[in-house]
Amino acid sequence: MAHSCNDTGDTIIQKTACVSVASLNKKICQQYDELEKLNLLTWHDGHIPSDEMWVKIGGDKGGGNFKQMLQLCHVPRPNAQNNTIIINCFEATDSSFNLRTGLKDILPQLEELQNSTLRGKQVKVFVFGDYEYLARIYGLTGANGRHYCLWCHVTKKHKSQLPRTLDTLKKDLDRFREAGGNISKAKNYNNVIASPLIQVPIDHVCPPGLHISLGLYLKNFNSLESACQQLDDIILKSTDSALLQNSLETPTNIPTFLKHVAMSNQIKDLENKAEDIRNGIDQLKDYLSVFMLLGDTSGTTESIISEIQSQEAQEAQVRAEAVHISKDLPEVRKGPLVAKLDDVLKSFRVNRQAYHGKSFVGNHIHKCCKPENIKTLMTKICKTAIELSPEIKENVVSVTTKYGRLFNLFGNCHRQYNCASFFTEEMILKLESDIEDYVQFFRKHFQETEPPKMHILEEHVSEWIRRWKFGLGFHGEQGGESMHAQLNTLKSNIRGFNDDLGILTSAMKEHWVKTSPSMLAAKP
Ligand SMILES: [Zn+2]
Repeated sequence: MAHSCNDTGDTIIQKTACVSVASLNKKICQQYDELEKLNLLTWHDGHIPSDEMWVKIGGDKGGGNFKQMLQLCHVPRPNAQNNTIIINCFEATDSSFNLRTGLKDILPQLEELQNSTLRGKQVKVFVFGDYEYLARIYGLTGANGRHYCLWCHVTKKHKSQLPRTLDTLKKDLDRFREAGGNISKAKNYNNVIASPLIQVPIDHVCPPGLHISLGLYLKNFNSLESACQQLDDIILKSTDSALLQNSLETPTNIPTFLKHVAMSNQIKDLENKAEDIRNGIDQLKDYLSVFMLLGDTSGTTESIISEIQSQEAQEAQVRAEAVHISKDLPEVRKGPLVAKLDDVLKSFRVNRQAYHGKSFVGNHIHKCCKPENIKTLMTKICKTAIELSPEIKENVVSVTTKYGRLFNLFGNCHRQYNCASFFTEEMILKLESDIEDYVQFFRKHFQETEPPKMHILEEHVSEWIRRWKFGLGFHGEQGGESMHAQLNTLKSNIRGFNDDLGILTSAMKEHWVKTSPSMLAAKP
């Protein structure tokens, strides 16, 4: 597997523990037979055709390793931890190279599986995972590419919704290779640069509902935070300084604070830009190991190396600029409204993850989207602002009304599409109209760029639900995330081994015993 060297950041190839089921087919039959014997199988009130067997396959990295997982859809909650079986695990990140190496015995089995009949049922395979994983296993350059969407050929400028299929992927890849495989031209070939790792049709790949929510909520929240920062700015210019001194965490004089706000915005913009470039470089490096080590006849390797060099020079320049500005950045604490945001979040028991771009986790988004919590957040911002600076009232009421509406519209969609239940046509129409309300409100009132996840929400979420009749919680990636903690606990309880492979093998065996339906049924 390819690892990143801690000292130099270079990619190094090392032997890595990797444990896998030998036969996917047998594992599925074993689970199915046990569930059948215990009379636990369901076809969800006939919403899955009685002659079909639905199987979910997906991957996620976390807890220091990557896991490929399997879920049968024929239990009441397909996403439940008990129903999630790790079929392959390796102790490395989910880079393209590692996926291609670690899964090379498992994924090809899917092709046979989805064309097979098991226990008299026609097998249907569905794929789940976060967006980066899905892009990698289908050979796309990822969310930064011009044609960023796995489900269609949309670009930021053109709303073409011509769907992608396995066939278009193949044609695009052939054209990319014939034209010399130059990575900087990938956009001309719909950003397809490698062969897909699996041959499951794209309309069987579930849009990542949890990650759509994580991304869009964070985007909306960051926007609220910068609106609060602008209000802070006005408050600081207009307010009696004695009152304000008390509300700031540490005494700071106002001109210094204003200078700080302006400069830190500048630094933040530069850092975001550098981060975008870095993400692109990481993706390129990831594919570089694929092309170098797995054989490249197209000449893509050279084009990737030169593209990495030019991107790295750009990144260094942007970072140097940020460092240059931050040398003169005066030391102050947060403004009163921005400080209030974190206070209110804490009162909901929501903590942003300081080291992951201040992002949220799934159940925190759930809390933050509750109408009563949205109301509390907006009311507290209003109250704090008006206390400090009564003349700002009209302005702050208009800002909090706007964001309150945005969060409510988003929360409304989030609760619907992430559920796992059956959708009637009426429910789908309601969801479609709610998604449209959210997206249109965003477009009308926020002059911000639309992230790829907003496109996926608008175009592919209800499309999926209409096709398969279940919310994304049924086919999606929500269940995979809880497996990292479970496997790590199992690993920490293993005794008698001191090598990675021994520990991982024992933990995986333990996991398979734990997820056996007859063992679960035997529990007191
Ligand atoms: Zn699309």
